[in-house]
Amino acid sequence: MKHYKSIFLATAVAAILTACGTSSTVPVTGRKHRLLVDDASMLSLSTQQYKQYMTQAKVSTDKQNTQMVERVGRRLANAVETYLKNNGFANEIQNFKWEFSLVQNKEVNAFCMPGGKIVVYEGILPVTKDETSLAIVLGHEIAHAVAKHSAEQMSKQQRANTGLQIGAGLLSVISSDQAINSAATNAASTGLSLLNLKFSRDHESEADRIGLIFAAMAGYNPANAVAFWQRMAASSSSNTPVWMRTHPTDEKRISDIQNKFLPEAQKYYKAQ
Ligand SMILES: [Zn+2]
Repeated sequence: MKHYKSIFLATAVAAILTACGTSSTVPVTGRKHRLLVDDASMLSLSTQQYKQYMTQAKVSTDKQNTQMVERVGRRLANAVETYLKNNGFANEIQNFKWEFSLVQNKEVNAFCMPGGKIVVYEGILPVTKDETSLAIVLGHEIAHAVAKHSAEQMSKQQRANTGLQIGAGLLSVISSDQAINSAATNAASTGLSLLNLKFSRDHESEADRIGLIFAAMAGYNPANAVAFWQRMAASSSSNTPVWMRTHPTDEKRISDIQNKFLPEAQKYYKAQ
C-alpha cells in the first residue's frame, strides 16, 4: 500500500500543478473542456495500470482472433492518427503508444485506456461476429481515449473532492498536506478504475458519435453498428456486462446511431 501511495502521490502532485486547467477541444465534435490532469500524468498512470493489468491477465491463445484484434486496432489507429494530424490535433495523441491485446475473459467487454492501450475480452467476439462490428467497438473505445474522457472524469472528481476552483487556491492546495493526501487517495481510487471507468451518458454518446466516424474513416461500414448494438442489447438481457450498465439505454443509443450519428459518419465512409 505504501508503495502505491508514493506513486500516486507523485502523480497527484503533478496533476495538482495543472490546477488552473488546460483548455482543449475534443476532435470531431469540437466540444471544449478544461482538464486539471495533464497528459503526462494521465499517461504514466495509464501505463502503470495497463502493465499491472496485463501481468495478471491471461492472454488469448487463439492466434487468429489475436491477429484480428491487432489488425482492426492498427487500421483504426492509423486512420485516427492521419485524421488528427491533418486537422491540427497531432498534439492530442503525440504520446500515445498503441497496444492491442485479446485476453481470456468470458465477459462481454473491451476498453481503451488513455494513451491507446486497447484490451478486448474474448467474450465479446461472439457478439461482434465480424471485423466490422469489432471496429465499431474499438472505434467507440478509441474515441473515449482521444476525447480524454478519463482525464475529464478525473478532473471532475478532483474539483468535487478538493473544492478546487479553476484558477484559484493553487498555492494553498499545494502547501496543504491534507489536500495533497486526499487528492492522492482520489487519484488512486480514480486511477484504479481507469481499467473500467464509468463514463457519463454524455461521454458515452460522444464516444458513439466519434467512434462511428473513426470506423468509417478506417474503411469499416458504420451502418453495421445498428445490428451490432441490437445483438449487444439481446446479449445483455441474459447477462449484463459491467460496461453495458453505464451505457445509455439500448433503445436511445440505437435510435441516436440510426438517426443522428450514422448519416454523419457515412460521409467519411468509402468502401475498401
Ligand atoms: Zn463507452
